[in-house]
Order: sequence, then C-alpha cells, then structure tokens
Amino acid sequence: MHDSGRPPDWLDAPAAAVLRDLQGAQPIAELAVVAYRAVDLNGLHLAIAELSEPLPPLEDDLDPETPTEYGGGNWVPRTMTGPRLLVLTADILQEDLAETDAAWAQSRPPCPWHPHPARAAVRDGEAWWVCERDDVPLYRIGRGEVPTRPGPPLSWNTPRRSRRAEKRQYGRERHR
Ligand SMILES: [Zn+2]
Repeated sequence: MHDSGRPPDWLDAPAAAVLRDLQGAQPIAELAVVAYRAVDLNGLHLAIAELSEPLPPLEDDLDPETPTEYGGGNWVPRTMTGPRLLVLTADILQEDLAETDAAWAQSRPPCPWHPHPARAAVRDGEAWWVCERDDVPLYRIGRGEVPTRPGPPLSWNTPRRSRRAEKRQYGRERHR
C-alpha cells in the first residue's frame, strides 16, 4: 500500500481546479498535487510537488460517513464537501506553493488592484478568491475565472473608478 500518490477522485477534482487557478497567467512546469495518508485522521494531507512523472493514484479507502472534525493543519477531512472543500484545498495548496522556489514572492492568484494574493473564502454559499483588503470577491474558485494572460481580465464588467473620477463625482455633488 502506498503512503502517497495522486489524490483520489473526491479530492483530485478540487485539487486540480485549484492548481489551475494558482498557475494562472504564469504556469510553472511539472507541478502536481500529492496526497499523503494522515495517521489517525479520516482525511489526507495535501502538498505541491515538482514532478516529471505522473503519480500513481492513492487508494480511496477512507469513509465519507465517519464524522470528522477539522482542527487545522494541511489535511483535508474526508467528510468535507462543496465550497468548504474547495476553500480548504485552495488555502493549503496556495500556502504550500508560496513556499516553493519557483513561486517564491509571487501572488497566486493575483489581486488585480494590490500586490497581495487573493485569499480563498466562502461567500454566499460559493467558493471565491477574494481581495481581503477591500473585502471584494474576485474569481470563483476552480471555474477558470482567474486570468490566464497578464493584464486585467477581459470579462471585467464593473471597472473600479479611479480616485480622480471619484473626486470629480464628489465635486459635482457638492456643487449641485
Ligand atoms: Zn486586493
């Protein structure tokens, strides 16, 4: 029995979706998500690795019905599903990728307005990358909404007004 491998299906889909978001406009070659067995936990540890060979899949022998509490750390409980599963997967992989030489000091995924990376959070029942500074949702996690080319996303339909435009607006209102 292997102790690590490609995540089993329940975790492979969210992990692959998150990895695409983290790659964004500056993909790093040969990145893969590795799942590790978690001793005494009904879940799996996740990590990012640079691999040239595809990994054998890890056997899925955990029980989705066994109650599991998440107490922090880089493991994902087998019972977690939906947006919370995506957000936790995103948190773990984002942090792990930021520790690698290849992605050091890069914002993945980028906030279009600030130098900080977007952070994963559940908003209105959906998993989002958000700008924490302005408290604004940016891209839904794992939906191909993170830009894959440099520059502002083409689909941006509510461009933020510049400070100057806001001043002009303020001035008009004052003189009304
Ligand atoms: Zn921001």
